[in-house]
Amino acid sequence: MIAQTNKALQGALDAIDLAVADCRHENAALIGAKCRGMLRGYDRLYRNAGYETLHVERLVTADLINPETQRTSRTFSIAGKIDIIAQMGNRRTIIDHKTTSEDISDPNAPYWRQLVIEGQVSHYALLAWLNGEKVDDLVWDVMRKPGISPKKLSKADRAAVVSSRKYFDVEMSTETLEALQVDERETLEMYEARLAHDCTTERPQWYFQRRPVPRMDNELLEYAGELWDHGQEILNTRNSGRNVRNSGACMMYGSACKFLGICSGYDQPDSDKWQRKQQVHSELELAGDGKDVLTNSRIRCFQTCKKKHYLTYELGIERIDEEEREALLFGTIWHFGLNEWWRFFHA
Ligand code: SF4
Repeated sequence: MIAQTNKALQGALDAIDLAVADCRHENAALIGAKCRGMLRGYDRLYRNAGYETLHVERLVTADLINPETQRTSRTFSIAGKIDIIAQMGNRRTIIDHKTTSEDISDPNAPYWRQLVIEGQVSHYALLAWLNGEKVDDLVWDVMRKPGISPKKLSKADRAAVVSSRKYFDVEMSTETLEALQVDERETLEMYEARLAHDCTTERPQWYFQRRPVPRMDNELLEYAGELWDHGQEILNTRNSGRNVRNSGACMMYGSACKFLGICSGYDQPDSDKWQRKQQVHSELELAGDGKDVLTNSRIRCFQTCKKKHYLTYELGIERIDEEEREALLFGTIWHFGLNEWWRFFHA
């Protein structure tokens, strides 16, 4: 078991390194060090949790059905990519990975309250059910992003590392030892070792939490009804062409919506800054353009701003020079590592 786990961790670390090498973002190496440090903590905490992996990143599709009338939509189908389907004993579980900057160690923190009504796991559980693979349990697998960054070291601390060749019990490379002769700041290798120590030994519960998500059959049926209603609303909006803007959403998530230039009249969807996507759900590998497929992200986008939904999922445009935002990149690289880790526990 231990040898397998070591392989799991090494595979995950290698996947992170590959993702970083493939990325041109200026902070890619730092993000990679964060993900590597965190994965060491994740591995230590969960390696013996007892799950066997059945599927990693499984794309699931189904018809959109009205649960009251059993009618199948003539327009829309539903889809989603389920992070992990695992089993423990004879219980099948959907495990959904999340990253956040919010507090997750307090069970009553607002983060958890919001997740009680979050539709994402209901969407996945419904998809599995419609495919004849009803699951017994749903689990949020949440990781809080590190609050610590590479720090300055005193002369004495640097001398101690050079002398012992170790930092937080990890053997340092010659490159790090040489860098300490001229640089006062931790190298990324040192930062990774300190972060791994923090999330492994000092504060694992600050960084990692897993919580079951209760969803009864009647709740899934209620969600199926809501999904049908959303489909109807999208159809009505499509037919009327009234894609109402929501100015309250323009600065959500701490930065300007990427369509602000268009909505404020400074840009046009057909300018040379934009291109049409071949398939509007960039996170899924679907046949066709995907415009008649409902996902949880799409429903959330529609609820947030109808104009944004139109530009993203109906017109289907994206910026040609779109830079990957750092928070998104962190989530992407973390997922690469996690997926590789889970693959080593295949049943
Ligand atoms: S698409 Fe919606 S959220 Fe985005 S800028 Fe326009 S009105 Fe604001």
